[in-house]
Amino acid sequence: MPIKVLPPVLAAKIAAGEVVERPASVVKELVENSIDASSSQITVEIKAGGVEQIKVIDDGHGIPSEELAVAFQRHATSKIDSQEQLDAIATLGFRGEALPSIAAVSNTTITTRQPLNPSGFRMELHWGEGAFSGTQGCPPGTAIEVSDLFGNLPARRKFLRSSSTETTRVQELVSRYSLVFPGIRFQLVVDGKISFTSPGNGLPREALVAVYGPQAATAMLEVRGEDTETGYQVNGFAGAPILTRANRTYMTFFVNRRWVQSRMLSFAVEEAYMGLLQVKRYPLAALNISIPYGDVDVNYHPSKREVRFQEENRVFSIVQKAVRAVLVADSPVPNLASPSESDYPKPVASSFFPRSAFGGIRNGSGLPTYQSQIGSGPADAAAPLQPAPPLKVVGQLKLTYIVAEGPAGMFLVDQHAAHERVLFDRLSQKTSEREPQSQPLLEPVLVDLSPSQRDALKSNRESLEDYGYEFEPFGDGSYLLRAVPAIFGEGDPAKSILDVLDMTAFEGLVRQKEEVTAASIACHGAIRAGKSLTEPEMVALLEQLEATPNPHTCPHGRPTMVYFSSNHMEREFGRR
Ligand code: ADP
Ligand code: MG
Repeated sequence: MPIKVLPPVLAAKIAAGEVVERPASVVKELVENSIDASSSQITVEIKAGGVEQIKVIDDGHGIPSEELAVAFQRHATSKIDSQEQLDAIATLGFRGEALPSIAAVSNTTITTRQPLNPSGFRMELHWGEGAFSGTQGCPPGTAIEVSDLFGNLPARRKFLRSSSTETTRVQELVSRYSLVFPGIRFQLVVDGKISFTSPGNGLPREALVAVYGPQAATAMLEVRGEDTETGYQVNGFAGAPILTRANRTYMTFFVNRRWVQSRMLSFAVEEAYMGLLQVKRYPLAALNISIPYGDVDVNYHPSKREVRFQEENRVFSIVQKAVRAVLVADSPVPNLASPSESDYPKPVASSFFPRSAFGGIRNGSGLPTYQSQIGSGPADAAAPLQPAPPLKVVGQLKLTYIVAEGPAGMFLVDQHAAHERVLFDRLSQKTSEREPQSQPLLEPVLVDLSPSQRDALKSNRESLEDYGYEFEPFGDGSYLLRAVPAIFGEGDPAKSILDVLDMTAFEGLVRQKEEVTAASIACHGAIRAGKSLTEPEMVALLEQLEATPNPHTCPHGRPTMVYFSSNHMEREFGRR
């Protein structure tokens, strides 16, 4: 074949492939345009995972009617017009590629009205070719409707995942943007139903509640840091160490409020948590780094998802330090630790490392660890597999801790955390191997579910039933709860299911749904702090704990027990 320049329609389709990979990338580009247009409200509607239809409606400044056709040309942008601006990009968009690329692989309709104009304008494009344009009444702002995505690119469409996976990606995206733009009210409608709404009142913590649910949100700590020399700042939230996930997807980073992916930033956060989390557990974080526009290259990756920093080390260090600082403040070390003593390793960062007797303590933490006292090797390598020591009950302290005597020292066992671990392990056994789990309620209880709770129930119904819940739909978002997991003693069954669903909600954000469900059921079923226990109850609990494969931490990663060595006590009392 001779060399020739491709016809424009074909060239546009090929170029579109770089920008528009899947429905979520369309949503990303359109939402970013709406943000750049100073919108205060952005509604995203998708049908069938976004393949059938994506609609993004905003109340931003709109597009002048005479510029509308230009907006759909390649490299047409209102956001930069000089090399200087390209070197310091302040908007999310700048390439002028999104609209033409999206239009090339879909049927696109745009209606837009500038707030001061009496009427709006509408334009329709069919696979990138203008099909209609004219005036039209509409509210101020811009609405873009994208239908039949990749209808003219069957190869691309074939590679899309199921519509629920594509939906999850859109949910993730919208909720991430709502975290970093708390002043914008985001709403996501999936197949006609509201799936997510952020309050848009400018309060970051309320956006956090909307995304992670009330329980996880309360365990998020506020992060603020500044490098006084460079003026770099980091702001956002990091999860308390009790809040962990099995992979890194729950760490979300923004640079100048642009969502980016960065291994460097994940590492910085993981460094800050070092010693606080179990092996293979990862923290939750949502952090925005503000740096001078000229110090970051955002024009580095086709979908603008990766950026390059001029001063990578400084960015790393400010993030790591800021996160570490809040964790230190949240995690004081008990008085008994006495790092000045010569046979204890010197502390690395004085009061930073946790008090667990086993889980995840690095050598040099400054705390006496079970392993270091009995010489069984590095703590974090051995932690998850080490059996619990045989313990003899001495008594109960503050109606919260079981005081016990064990090999070469005293153990304090957190009764709630220990029981949580026992129940969680029981729930995690294969259905075939465990006893029947259900406990019928004398009278069924009516529960009203929010949209996200309903979604969580539907998508996770099987494991909920497996764990012992029985429900019956009761019209319009209500369910009759007929049975609860047998492990629940007393307690309010309706509250338990609502909490469990809140924790399980947001499929996209909480991927290990079953694990989250089991952990929150275990948390509900576990004996509370403040409950008086008899000696036989304490003995039974410690025996059950000893029998679990992972006795040293509760399912959230908190320690179930702390250890005080006999040597330490002797020294404190001046016996040695
Ligand atoms: P870019 O965002 O890189 O400039 P796009 O192709 O995404 O390129 O958009 C082209 C232009 O269309 C933008 O520069 C902007 O002027 C205008 N535009 C797109 N979407 C909107 C919107 N929702 N509100 C106002 N203007 C918009
Ligand atoms: Mg854009």
